[in-house]
Amino acid sequence: QSQEISQAQIDYHLVLQALQEHGTRMVCTGKMHTDRICRFDNLCYSSEAEDFVFFHSNSSVMLPNLGSRRFQPALLDLSSVEDHNTQYFNFLELPAAALKFMPKPVFVPDVTLIFNRFNPDNLMHVFHDDLLPAFYTMKQYLDLDDEARLVFMEGWGEGPHFDLYQFLSTKQPLLKDQLKNFGKLMCFTKSYIGLTKMTTWYQYGFVQPQGPKANILVSGNEIRQFAKAFMEKMNITRVEKADKNGGNLEYDKESERMDEYIVLFSRSTTRLILNEAELIMALAQEFQMRVVTVSLEEQSFPSLIQVISGASMLISMHGAQLVSSLFLPRGAVVVELFPFAVNPEQYTPYKTLTSLPGMDLHYISWRNTKEENTVIHPDRSWEQGGIVHLEKEEQERILASKDVPRHLCCRNPEWLFRIYQDTLVDIQSFLEVLKEGINSKSNLKKGKAASTVHPGRVREAQCQTYIQNSNEAKLTVSWQIPWNLKYLKVREVKYEVWIQEQGENTYMPYILPQQNYTFSENIKPFTTYLVWVRCIFNKNLLGPFADVLMCKT
Ligand code: UDP
Repeated sequence: QSQEISQAQIDYHLVLQALQEHGTRMVCTGKMHTDRICRFDNLCYSSEAEDFVFFHSNSSVMLPNLGSRRFQPALLDLSSVEDHNTQYFNFLELPAAALKFMPKPVFVPDVTLIFNRFNPDNLMHVFHDDLLPAFYTMKQYLDLDDEARLVFMEGWGEGPHFDLYQFLSTKQPLLKDQLKNFGKLMCFTKSYIGLTKMTTWYQYGFVQPQGPKANILVSGNEIRQFAKAFMEKMNITRVEKADKNGGNLEYDKESERMDEYIVLFSRSTTRLILNEAELIMALAQEFQMRVVTVSLEEQSFPSLIQVISGASMLISMHGAQLVSSLFLPRGAVVVELFPFAVNPEQYTPYKTLTSLPGMDLHYISWRNTKEENTVIHPDRSWEQGGIVHLEKEEQERILASKDVPRHLCCRNPEWLFRIYQDTLVDIQSFLEVLKEGINSKSNLKKGKAASTVHPGRVREAQCQTYIQNSNEAKLTVSWQIPWNLKYLKVREVKYEVWIQEQGENTYMPYILPQQNYTFSENIKPFTTYLVWVRCIFNKNLLGPFADVLMCKT
């Protein structure tokens, strides 16, 4: 991957003239700065000013044209983390005529995607905040193809996972610091700024305690498509064996169990499992499976993913390395361990990931409840959970507390103190939690993914009414199957009918297996009923309601 930007294919005078005449053009999506991605022709960057520059001319376009609302608080978020005040994007404005007095621009002919990496040192952040959003932003805009240029504006160095960012395109990504090597003024012929937030599932707790995002829009399918594309880039071929029987843990055949294995993801500097060897032995004995250890410190990322992509179970202390669950085969079990005084319910980035619809992973958490099995590190720096810098009383309070109360990101000392403890895992309680978790889940569907095809509307819905006497009436509702059903094999097709007396604010719901039904209970003569009908596949795939029927008895 070359960092050079080829100037050969451009006619410098022509593109400079175009910039002078046409200035910059911007067209964006999104009503709010938090859901906006902008596309620019001829957006420039001044490395002196460390600012992007929009050149106004007679043919410039700036849509949305926000006036000074562009600064309230920003045009858009440069990272996928919503509305974070260190991640805002804006540009400076100049008349195109000013170009005459400015350094000669260097043009970047590549289609460029410009964004901030949020925390490139941390693997969870790398995948969740940067790689998945960048991957799907590139899917959204066709010209952001394999040859797109990525520019990271957060200002950090390459970081430990730069090779992963390099998989996004064949061109070498540029860091903010490198932009000045291209001269004082750099102009991107075609660029996109911002990232889709559609794929993110977790909010880190900047304004409210951390937890799943309120409106998750991604499913296991999109995560797996991403994982598949990344594995191809890493030259990993998934060993399909675990998929054949859905990776389930109850085996009929001894032979099938032979190549199943458990992966223990080990951390070697902080938040340690102190008795890994004992844990491995116990697991091997309990499940009669091989147990393989992996760690970010001891192997390349591709080799680690090769191992994880064929595992039946992934076990790890809470931590960023657990984002690698997205490479597990369907049906695998994820076991997340939590140190003493840390409540698994409050820290769920990996639970949320593994529980996305269609991920088909089983999530189990275990928590150390024995204080004698925890090893604390009060003397460390505050970032690593040290507390000796705090007032004596505060230290004592933290030491006496058995549960970290809910808190905001990112510097809560009690949280950092507890999450960076090392743990001696109590084997008996661990195996109990594991067995119980697996048993309660083994009834769940295994193997092939359930269909996600939703029913269409029922067709030709109609009603007929009959008056029996002055107190009783009947209402017959009938309909035809949804159009797409005739092309599908569906295990169970049912219909839901809602009947509401006009003017009332409650309705009666009915679930029916057939395509017509005569209602007589609670049906009164000389009354108008509103009737809705929809189709349901396999109990939970709901179709849309057909147009409401007005049925007068
Ligand atoms: N890390 C690691 N081994 C360790 C400690 C950390 O591989 O012993 C990795 C971890 O997976 C993450 C990064 O280093 O990618 C930062 O770890 P930190 O503990 O700061 O973050 P967390 O894992 O709690 O998100």
